[in-house]
Formats: sequence, structure tokens, C-alpha cells
Amino acid sequence: MTEEPPKRRTLSLKPGVEVTRPLGPQPLEPLRSDRPARPPRPPRPFREAKPVERPSHGWKCKPCGAFFDPPAEGPDDEVVRCPGCNARIGIAGDFRQTPPPARLRARPMRH
Ligand SMILES: [Zn+2]
Repeated sequence: MTEEPPKRRTLSLKPGVEVTRPLGPQPLEPLRSDRPARPPRPPRPFREAKPVERPSHGWKCKPCGAFFDPPAEGPDDEVVRCPGCNARIGIAGDFRQTPPPARLRARPMRH
């Protein structure tokens, strides 16, 4: 004796219900952002590797104690004055001698 399984009832919509959209989950709305689209960033300008300029202040004025740097270029007889007290420290050539002459009114701070 075989018993056939009972036939499943076919699901049917109730009469009077109108199908306005395909059955299934609600269609997703496209994501919207209030922010305007970000413009693409301009490429970074190529930065040249530049040595950091830092004052060395290799000398110290004897009269006032101000730190300063003698001119690295220029004539040797160029008068070098202290930026702090305007004292005549010496001439540029004196700073280029090692050791510096005693008449130089500045002390080298470099060791
Ligand atoms: Zn000085």
C-alpha cells in the first residue's frame, strides 16, 4: 500500500490584491552622497632634495658675545662687522686662516 503524499496547496494570492512590484525585497536605492564628488588630487610637485639651510653661527663676537657667520665668499679684505654691536671684527681673510689671527675680535665656536 502506497500512500501518495498529499499534494501541497498551491500558494495563491488573495483575490483583490494587486501586485504593483515584483515580489521580493525592496530594490535598493543607489547610494547617494550629499557631498560633491571629491576632485582628484593634483599630483604632488616634485620636491628637490634641498639641504636644510641652517645658520651655523660659527663665530662669537668678543666685544658683545653675539653669534655670527663671516662671509663665506667675497674678497679677503672685506671688513667683517658684528651684526650685534657693529664692531669691526676683522677682515674676511682673517676668518679663513687656521688658526685665526689674534687680531680677530671673534672666537670660533666650532670645535
Ligand atoms: Zn658684537
